[in-house]
Amino acid sequence: MGMTDGTGALGLLSGGLDSQLAVRVLQQQGIAVRTIVFDSPFYDVSAAIKAASALQVPLRIYDFTDDIIALVQNPPHGLGKCMNPCIDCHARMLRRAGELLAAEGCRFLFTGEVLNERPMSQTRRAMGIVAEESEYADLVLRPLSAKLLPPTKPEIAGWVDRMQLLELNGRRRSEQFALAKAYGLQSYPSPAGGCLLTEPNFCVRLKELRQHEGLDDRRLVRLLRVGRHFRLSTGHKCIVGRDEADNAKLSAQRAAEDVELILPDDRPGPTGMLVGPAPEQALREAAAITTFYAKCPPGEPAALVVRQDGRPPFALTVQPFTANEAEACSIRLA
Ligand code: SF4
Repeated sequence: MGMTDGTGALGLLSGGLDSQLAVRVLQQQGIAVRTIVFDSPFYDVSAAIKAASALQVPLRIYDFTDDIIALVQNPPHGLGKCMNPCIDCHARMLRRAGELLAAEGCRFLFTGEVLNERPMSQTRRAMGIVAEESEYADLVLRPLSAKLLPPTKPEIAGWVDRMQLLELNGRRRSEQFALAKAYGLQSYPSPAGGCLLTEPNFCVRLKELRQHEGLDDRRLVRLLRVGRHFRLSTGHKCIVGRDEADNAKLSAQRAAEDVELILPDDRPGPTGMLVGPAPEQALREAAAITTFYAKCPPGEPAALVVRQDGRPPFALTVQPFTANEAEACSIRLA
Protein backbone atom coordinates (compact mmCIF):
# COMPACT_ATOMS: atom_id res chain seq x y z
CA MET A 1 0.00 0.00 0.00
CA GLY A 2 1.91 3.03 -1.19
CA MET A 3 1.06 6.70 -1.40
CA THR A 4 -2.25 7.81 -2.72
CA ASP A 5 -2.32 10.04 -5.80
CA GLY A 6 -2.96 13.14 -3.73
CA THR A 7 -6.71 12.63 -3.47
CA GLY A 8 -6.70 10.50 -0.32
CA ALA A 9 -7.90 11.26 3.19
CA LEU A 10 -5.77 11.10 6.32
CA GLY A 11 -7.69 10.01 9.41
CA LEU A 12 -6.91 10.09 13.12
CA LEU A 13 -7.15 6.47 14.23
CA SER A 14 -7.49 5.73 17.94
CA GLY A 15 -8.51 2.17 17.23
CA GLY A 16 -11.86 2.76 18.93
CA LEU A 17 -15.09 1.99 17.15
CA ASP A 18 -15.83 5.53 15.95
CA SER A 19 -12.48 6.02 14.26
CA GLN A 20 -12.82 2.65 12.53
CA LEU A 21 -16.32 3.48 11.31
CA ALA A 22 -15.11 6.80 9.92
CA VAL A 23 -12.52 4.92 7.86
CA ARG A 24 -15.15 2.59 6.43
CA VAL A 25 -17.63 5.38 5.68
CA LEU A 26 -15.06 7.13 3.49
CA GLN A 27 -13.73 3.94 1.92
CA GLN A 28 -17.25 3.14 0.86
CA GLN A 29 -17.10 6.19 -1.40
CA GLY A 30 -13.92 4.88 -2.99
CA ILE A 31 -11.65 7.32 -1.15
CA ALA A 32 -8.11 6.10 -0.45
CA VAL A 33 -7.70 6.30 3.32
CA ARG A 34 -4.51 6.52 5.34
CA THR A 35 -4.35 6.84 9.11
CA ILE A 36 -2.20 8.33 11.85
CA VAL A 37 -1.97 7.75 15.61
CA PHE A 38 -0.22 9.87 18.23
CA ASP A 39 2.19 8.01 20.48
CA SER A 40 3.17 9.31 23.93
CA PRO A 41 3.86 8.09 27.48
CA PHE A 42 0.15 8.70 28.15
CA TYR A 43 -1.35 6.95 25.19
CA ASP A 44 -1.26 3.32 24.20
CA VAL A 45 -1.16 2.98 20.42
CA SER A 46 -1.61 -0.79 20.38
CA ALA A 47 -5.36 -0.57 19.70
CA ALA A 48 -4.69 1.64 16.68
CA ILE A 49 -2.05 -0.74 15.36
CA LYS A 50 -4.46 -3.62 15.71
CA ALA A 51 -7.30 -1.70 14.06
CA ALA A 52 -5.14 -0.54 11.14
CA SER A 53 -4.10 -4.09 10.48
CA ALA A 54 -7.69 -5.37 10.69
CA LEU A 55 -8.90 -2.56 8.40
CA GLN A 56 -5.87 -2.98 6.16
CA VAL A 57 -5.10 0.72 6.05
CA PRO A 58 -1.63 2.29 6.31
CA LEU A 59 -0.88 3.74 9.74
CA ARG A 60 1.73 6.36 10.63
CA ILE A 61 2.81 6.43 14.28
CA TYR A 62 3.72 9.99 15.24
CA ASP A 63 5.81 10.75 18.33
CA PHE A 64 3.57 13.20 20.15
CA THR A 65 5.47 13.21 23.46
CA ASP A 66 6.81 16.76 23.34
CA ASP A 67 3.50 18.16 22.11
CA ILE A 68 1.36 16.55 24.77
CA ILE A 69 3.72 17.29 27.66
CA ALA A 70 3.79 20.95 26.64
CA LEU A 71 -0.03 20.99 26.53
CA VAL A 72 -0.39 19.28 29.91
CA GLN A 73 1.85 21.97 31.39
CA ASN A 74 0.11 24.83 29.64
CA PRO A 75 -3.32 23.98 28.20
CA PRO A 76 -4.78 27.12 26.55
CA HIS A 77 -8.29 25.63 26.80
CA GLY A 78 -7.86 24.07 30.20
CA LEU A 79 -7.91 20.54 31.52
CA GLY A 80 -10.82 18.11 31.74
CA LYS A 81 -11.72 16.23 34.91
CA CYS A 82 -8.17 14.90 35.28
CA MET A 83 -5.05 16.06 33.49
CA ASN A 84 -6.54 15.77 30.00
CA PRO A 85 -6.20 18.85 27.79
CA CYS A 86 -8.61 17.33 25.28
CA ILE A 87 -9.46 20.40 23.21
CA ASP A 88 -5.84 21.45 22.78
CA CYS A 89 -4.75 17.86 22.30
CA HIS A 90 -7.25 17.32 19.49
CA ALA A 91 -6.32 20.59 17.82
CA ARG A 92 -2.61 19.77 18.01
CA MET A 93 -3.13 16.26 16.62
CA LEU A 94 -5.05 17.71 13.68
CA ARG A 95 -2.35 20.30 13.11
CA ARG A 96 0.37 17.66 13.07
CA ALA A 97 -1.72 15.51 10.74
CA GLY A 98 -2.37 18.56 8.55
CA GLU A 99 1.35 19.18 8.26
CA LEU A 100 1.71 15.64 6.92
CA LEU A 101 -1.08 15.79 4.33
CA ALA A 102 1.20 16.30 1.34
CA ALA A 103 3.72 13.72 2.55
CA GLU A 104 0.89 11.20 2.89
CA GLY A 105 -0.52 11.97 -0.56
CA CYS A 106 -3.78 13.18 0.96
CA ARG A 107 -5.84 16.35 0.60
CA PHE A 108 -8.03 16.38 3.68
CA LEU A 109 -8.25 15.17 7.26
CA PHE A 110 -10.95 13.25 9.06
CA THR A 111 -11.75 12.06 12.58
CA GLY A 112 -14.22 9.65 14.15
CA GLU A 113 -15.69 12.36 16.34
CA VAL A 114 -19.41 12.20 16.99
CA LEU A 115 -21.29 15.36 17.86
CA ASN A 116 -22.15 15.52 21.60
CA GLU A 117 -20.67 12.14 22.40
CA ARG A 118 -18.10 13.48 24.87
CA PRO A 119 -18.80 16.34 27.25
CA MET A 120 -15.57 18.29 26.85
CA SER A 121 -14.27 17.81 23.36
CA GLN A 122 -17.20 16.88 21.16
CA THR A 123 -19.71 19.65 21.60
CA ARG A 124 -20.44 21.73 18.51
CA ARG A 125 -18.49 24.60 20.06
CA ALA A 126 -15.49 22.47 21.01
CA MET A 127 -15.36 20.80 17.62
CA GLY A 128 -15.38 24.23 16.01
CA ILE A 129 -12.55 25.45 18.24
CA VAL A 130 -10.54 22.31 17.59
CA ALA A 131 -10.79 22.64 13.81
CA GLU A 132 -10.06 26.39 13.96
CA GLU A 133 -7.01 26.04 16.19
CA SER A 134 -5.61 23.17 14.16
CA GLU A 135 -5.01 25.70 11.35
CA TYR A 136 -6.63 23.26 8.93
CA ALA A 137 -10.23 24.13 9.79
CA ASP A 138 -11.73 23.83 6.31
CA LEU A 139 -10.01 20.49 5.72
CA VAL A 140 -11.29 18.64 8.82
CA LEU A 141 -14.18 16.30 8.02
CA ARG A 142 -16.17 14.39 10.66
CA PRO A 143 -17.84 11.73 8.51
CA LEU A 144 -19.97 10.33 11.35
CA SER A 145 -21.70 13.64 12.12
CA ALA A 146 -21.00 15.62 8.93
CA LYS A 147 -24.62 16.15 8.01
CA LEU A 148 -25.18 17.98 11.29
CA LEU A 149 -22.13 20.22 10.85
CA PRO A 150 -21.36 23.05 8.42
CA PRO A 151 -20.10 21.74 5.07
CA THR A 152 -16.33 21.59 4.84
CA LYS A 153 -14.12 22.10 1.80
CA PRO A 154 -13.97 18.39 0.93
CA GLU A 155 -17.78 18.38 0.73
CA ILE A 156 -18.12 21.72 -1.06
CA ALA A 157 -15.42 20.82 -3.60
CA GLY A 158 -17.06 17.48 -4.22
CA TRP A 159 -14.10 15.41 -2.99
CA VAL A 160 -16.61 13.54 -0.86
CA ASP A 161 -20.31 13.05 -1.27
CA ARG A 162 -21.96 14.72 1.72
CA MET A 163 -25.14 12.76 1.08
CA GLN A 164 -23.37 9.54 1.92
CA LEU A 165 -22.00 10.87 5.22
CA LEU A 166 -23.74 10.28 8.54
CA GLU A 167 -25.63 12.28 11.13
CA LEU A 168 -24.80 10.55 14.38
CA ASN A 169 -25.45 12.60 17.48
CA GLY A 170 -25.14 12.01 21.22
CA ARG A 171 -23.92 9.36 23.57
CA ARG A 172 -26.26 6.58 22.57
CA ARG A 173 -24.09 4.19 20.67
CA SER A 174 -26.66 1.77 19.30
CA GLU A 175 -26.28 3.11 15.76
CA GLN A 176 -22.52 2.69 15.94
CA PHE A 177 -22.93 -0.93 17.04
CA ALA A 178 -25.35 -1.61 14.20
CA LEU A 179 -22.91 -0.04 11.72
CA ALA A 180 -20.04 -2.05 13.17
CA LYS A 181 -22.01 -5.17 12.50
CA ALA A 182 -22.88 -4.07 8.98
CA TYR A 183 -19.22 -3.33 8.24
CA GLY A 184 -18.05 -6.55 9.89
CA LEU A 185 -15.85 -4.76 12.42
CA GLN A 186 -14.85 -7.30 15.02
CA SER A 187 -12.75 -5.77 17.73
CA TYR A 188 -12.81 -2.33 19.19
CA PRO A 189 -11.78 -1.15 22.68
CA SER A 190 -14.06 1.03 24.80
CA PRO A 191 -13.94 4.70 23.84
CA ALA A 192 -11.20 6.87 25.37
CA GLY A 193 -9.78 3.80 27.09
CA GLY A 194 -6.32 4.46 25.80
CA CYS A 195 -5.48 7.78 27.44
CA LEU A 196 -3.89 7.79 30.89
CA LEU A 197 -4.50 11.52 31.27
CA THR A 198 -8.13 10.69 32.03
CA GLU A 199 -7.25 8.17 34.75
CA PRO A 200 -7.50 9.66 38.26
CA ASN A 201 -4.83 7.48 39.83
CA PHE A 202 -2.35 8.14 37.05
CA CYS A 203 -3.00 11.86 37.29
CA VAL A 204 -2.16 11.91 40.98
CA ARG A 205 1.26 10.55 40.04
CA LEU A 206 1.66 12.94 37.16
CA LYS A 207 0.81 16.02 39.25
CA GLU A 208 3.13 14.82 41.97
CA LEU A 209 5.98 14.40 39.49
CA ARG A 210 5.32 17.84 38.04
CA GLN A 211 5.66 19.33 41.55
CA HIS A 212 8.87 17.51 42.42
CA GLU A 213 11.07 16.62 39.46
CA GLY A 214 9.03 18.42 36.76
CA LEU A 215 8.09 16.80 33.46
CA ASP A 216 11.26 17.49 31.47
CA ASP A 217 12.83 14.12 32.21
CA ARG A 218 10.96 11.90 29.74
CA ARG A 219 12.25 8.76 31.44
CA LEU A 220 10.54 9.72 34.71
CA VAL A 221 7.33 10.49 32.82
CA ARG A 222 7.46 7.10 31.11
CA LEU A 223 8.10 5.36 34.43
CA LEU A 224 4.80 6.69 35.81
CA ARG A 225 3.13 3.72 34.10
CA VAL A 226 5.32 1.20 35.86
CA GLY A 227 4.92 -0.22 39.38
CA ARG A 228 3.98 1.43 42.68
CA HIS A 229 5.37 4.89 43.40
CA PHE A 230 6.60 6.36 46.69
CA ARG A 231 7.97 9.70 47.87
CA LEU A 232 10.60 9.24 50.57
CA SER A 233 11.21 11.53 53.55
CA THR A 234 14.34 12.79 51.78
CA GLY A 235 12.23 13.92 48.78
CA HIS A 236 13.56 11.12 46.58
CA LYS A 237 11.39 8.79 44.57
CA CYS A 238 11.18 5.03 44.86
CA ILE A 239 9.31 2.67 42.51
CA VAL A 240 8.48 -0.95 43.29
CA GLY A 241 7.50 -3.47 40.62
CA ARG A 242 4.13 -5.22 40.98
CA ASP A 243 4.99 -8.15 38.77
CA GLU A 244 7.72 -9.54 36.57
CA ALA A 245 6.83 -7.27 33.69
CA ASP A 246 7.22 -4.20 35.93
CA ASN A 247 10.51 -5.52 37.31
CA ALA A 248 11.89 -5.99 33.82
CA LYS A 249 10.84 -2.46 32.80
CA LEU A 250 12.42 -0.94 35.90
CA SER A 251 15.71 -2.75 35.24
CA ALA A 252 15.64 -1.75 31.59
CA GLN A 253 14.98 1.92 32.32
CA ARG A 254 17.38 2.32 35.21
CA ALA A 255 19.75 5.25 34.72
CA ALA A 256 23.37 5.24 35.87
CA GLU A 257 22.64 7.14 39.09
CA ASP A 258 19.61 5.00 40.06
CA VAL A 259 19.80 2.19 42.57
CA GLU A 260 18.21 -1.20 42.02
CA LEU A 261 17.12 -3.35 44.96
CA ILE A 262 16.44 -7.06 44.60
CA LEU A 263 16.09 -10.07 46.86
CA PRO A 264 19.29 -12.04 47.55
CA ASP A 265 20.20 -15.22 45.65
CA ASP A 266 17.96 -14.25 42.71
CA ARG A 267 14.88 -15.12 44.72
CA PRO A 268 11.71 -13.98 42.93
CA GLY A 269 10.15 -10.82 44.33
CA PRO A 270 9.60 -7.18 43.58
CA THR A 271 12.38 -5.02 42.20
CA GLY A 272 12.77 -1.69 43.95
CA MET A 273 14.22 1.30 42.14
CA LEU A 274 15.48 4.40 43.91
CA VAL A 275 15.73 7.35 41.57
CA GLY A 276 19.16 8.77 42.24
CA PRO A 277 21.49 10.25 43.03
CA ALA A 278 20.26 9.63 46.57
CA PRO A 279 21.74 9.57 50.09
CA GLU A 280 22.02 6.60 52.47
CA GLN A 281 18.78 7.50 54.28
CA ALA A 282 16.81 7.32 51.02
CA LEU A 283 18.42 3.97 50.21
CA ARG A 284 17.37 2.56 53.60
CA GLU A 285 13.78 3.75 53.16
CA ALA A 286 13.60 2.35 49.62
CA ALA A 287 14.86 -0.97 50.96
CA ALA A 288 12.30 -0.91 53.80
CA ILE A 289 9.51 -0.39 51.26
CA THR A 290 10.79 -3.06 48.89
CA THR A 291 11.13 -5.65 51.68
CA PHE A 292 7.57 -4.88 52.80
CA TYR A 293 6.29 -5.69 49.29
CA ALA A 294 8.57 -8.73 49.18
CA LYS A 295 6.48 -9.98 52.12
CA CYS A 296 9.52 -10.29 54.36
CA PRO A 297 8.28 -11.19 57.88
CA PRO A 298 7.35 -7.98 59.72
CA GLY A 299 9.50 -7.07 62.70
CA GLU A 300 12.49 -9.07 61.48
CA PRO A 301 15.50 -7.62 59.70
CA ALA A 302 15.51 -8.44 55.99
CA ALA A 303 18.31 -8.41 53.44
CA LEU A 304 18.39 -7.03 49.93
CA VAL A 305 21.03 -6.78 47.24
CA VAL A 306 21.84 -3.28 46.09
CA ARG A 307 22.96 -2.75 42.50
CA GLN A 308 24.30 0.49 41.16
CA ASP A 309 26.54 1.38 38.26
CA GLY A 310 30.16 1.90 39.18
CA ARG A 311 30.28 -0.28 42.29
CA PRO A 312 29.96 -4.00 42.96
CA PRO A 313 26.59 -5.25 44.27
CA PHE A 314 26.39 -5.32 48.06
CA ALA A 315 23.97 -6.60 50.71
CA LEU A 316 21.86 -4.25 52.82
CA THR A 317 19.82 -5.30 55.84
CA VAL A 318 16.87 -3.19 56.99
CA GLN A 319 13.72 -3.38 59.06
CA PRO A 320 10.83 -3.74 56.57
CA PHE A 321 8.20 -1.00 56.62
CA THR A 322 4.80 -1.79 58.08
CA ALA A 323 1.74 -1.51 55.84
CA ASN A 324 0.97 1.88 57.39
CA GLU A 325 4.47 3.20 56.82
CA ALA A 326 4.40 2.07 53.19
CA GLU A 327 0.94 3.58 52.72
CA ALA A 328 2.06 6.90 54.20
CA CYS A 329 4.62 7.53 51.46
CA SER A 330 2.66 5.96 48.61
CA ILE A 331 1.78 8.31 45.74
CA ARG A 332 -1.79 7.48 44.86
CA LEU A 333 -5.38 8.54 45.36
CA ALA A 334 -6.16 8.92 49.05
S1 SF4 B 1 -8.43 11.75 25.98
FE1 SF4 B 1 -6.20 12.03 25.96
S2 SF4 B 1 -5.58 11.58 23.86
FE2 SF4 B 1 -7.78 11.97 23.83
S3 SF4 B 1 -7.94 14.15 23.37
FE3 SF4 B 1 -8.01 13.93 25.58
S4 SF4 B 1 -5.90 14.23 26.22
FE4 SF4 B 1 -5.85 13.80 24.02
